[in-house]
Amino acid sequence: MTHVDDKAVAAAQILGSAHIAGTWTDGTSGEFHEIFDPATGEHVVTTALAGPADVDRAVSAATAAFPEWSRATPADRSSALARLAVLVGERAEAYAEVETVQAGKPIKLTREFDVPGSIDNISFYSGAARNLEGKASGEYDGTHTSSVRREAVGVVGSIAPWNYPLQMAVWKILPAIAAGNTIVLKPAEITPLTSLMLADDVRAAGIPDGVVNVLTGRGRVVGEAILAHPGVRMVSFTGSTPVGTRVMQVAAQTVKRVHLELGGKAPFVVFEDADLEAAVHGAVAGSLINSGQDCTAATRAYVQRPLYDAFVAGVADVMGTVRLGDPRDAATDQGPLVSWDQRERVAAYVERARGYGATVVCGGRAPGGDLAKGAYYEPTLVVDVAQDSEIVQEELFGPVLVVLPFDTDDDGIALANDTPFGLAASAWTRDVFRAMRASRDIQAGCVWINDHIPIVSDMPHGGFKGSGFGKDMSQYSFDEYTQVKHVSLEVTGAARKDWHRTVFGDR
Ligand code: NAD
Repeated sequence: MTHVDDKAVAAAQILGSAHIAGTWTDGTSGEFHEIFDPATGEHVVTTALAGPADVDRAVSAATAAFPEWSRATPADRSSALARLAVLVGERAEAYAEVETVQAGKPIKLTREFDVPGSIDNISFYSGAARNLEGKASGEYDGTHTSSVRREAVGVVGSIAPWNYPLQMAVWKILPAIAAGNTIVLKPAEITPLTSLMLADDVRAAGIPDGVVNVLTGRGRVVGEAILAHPGVRMVSFTGSTPVGTRVMQVAAQTVKRVHLELGGKAPFVVFEDADLEAAVHGAVAGSLINSGQDCTAATRAYVQRPLYDAFVAGVADVMGTVRLGDPRDAATDQGPLVSWDQRERVAAYVERARGYGATVVCGGRAPGGDLAKGAYYEPTLVVDVAQDSEIVQEELFGPVLVVLPFDTDDDGIALANDTPFGLAASAWTRDVFRAMRASRDIQAGCVWINDHIPIVSDMPHGGFKGSGFGKDMSQYSFDEYTQVKHVSLEVTGAARKDWHRTVFGDR
């Protein structure tokens, strides 16, 4: 790694572009990647990208570490993870600053959400490591004692996106290693820095070398090499639905277990009896968090006709108060998008929507002045769009909310379900029956009632339909990184078993 220009990154003490077998190293692909601060356009760091040979080394390190780590007692694994939570806590401010520099997230978001959420998740899996549950051992057929062993799967290959780099690394690494697996993680090449910091803290926490390996590299090179590697037994992927489809295809060649956390297009359903002020503020916060680059962000608001005009006017007013600015400034509400490419992608969706008759009520452009040098895009509200238009159906991953009206409760729920995605949703109502019906009928892995976004380590996160399968966070995620083995011990000692009659006849 060269040109560590930024103070925050220097303070993070990242000494290489990869962390393999407990040692800093650089990727050997011969390719480099320049990371730029999306708020200023300033160069932050150049990483030396990994290639297939580095994946081989990392998988070998993880394979070598597996026997000892998988046989460590749950108490030992738990203690190591508890030490990791303390170490990350000691460097919380450095993590927050580096996350802000590499991803453009407002510092108040990284300080109050990304970093404390990650520490809490590490602590949760420190507890989960000691919570191996299963059926009671017993003589289910009268002649054999059956027991269930819950075992680690082996070497896990994980591939993460750029929108919550530290949290994604934690959500991938922690349940896997708590359960006794070892791991090779590839963060997104544009945001690898906090994952590398975490790998170094893993070493400092006394977790054996090779248990956690982190490689910076391109998806098509390092990602595919992880997917195809015969030494990797499970792939855990978070990212877009098109890449998730590819992950499943490649992993199928070696019959790997697959865990997919994919895209979202969360509906936000406002019934006529909703608290309008709560719904308006919820919609603005839920659509603009992390500049809308959140897989669960509110993206499609469906508002029952009597509230529609007031909701649109209210959202436009509140969006107008959001302070766009330098993400290092504690007063900033919304920073830039993660990159100029991402900004162009979002802007292109809005331009095309204008072309097919949409009304852009507010935003819909990149700001000028001091912010022109960054990848900023204004909070944007779009109406007068058809349900089947791309801006309603596809994931933009930007600070854009579309609003459509609906008439009956059935219509609202049908519209909410009418995309290929099913990650998260919310319903806004003061009627208990509407709330219960929405929570039953909306096809999504999470349905919030009268809020949108909050998550907790103790509860599962993961999609339905095109948003993938498998859960992150909670005991459900821990269980996914284990495989269940039935052990059956014959207890009568008889040489001739009763069931042998089916083979030997009556002899
Ligand atoms: P992406 O799919 O482009 O990339 C995700 C990761 O996959 C990156 O590390 C990338 O390098 C890698 N990759 C790309 N091509 C690959 C290939 N052919 N083989 C293997 N790996 C490959 O996604 P992104 O743009 O980084 O992140 C945004 C996406 O992530 C959005 O769709 C968002 O909804 C999704 N996301 C989902 C969740 C969830 O929990 N469901 C959480 C966060 C983000």
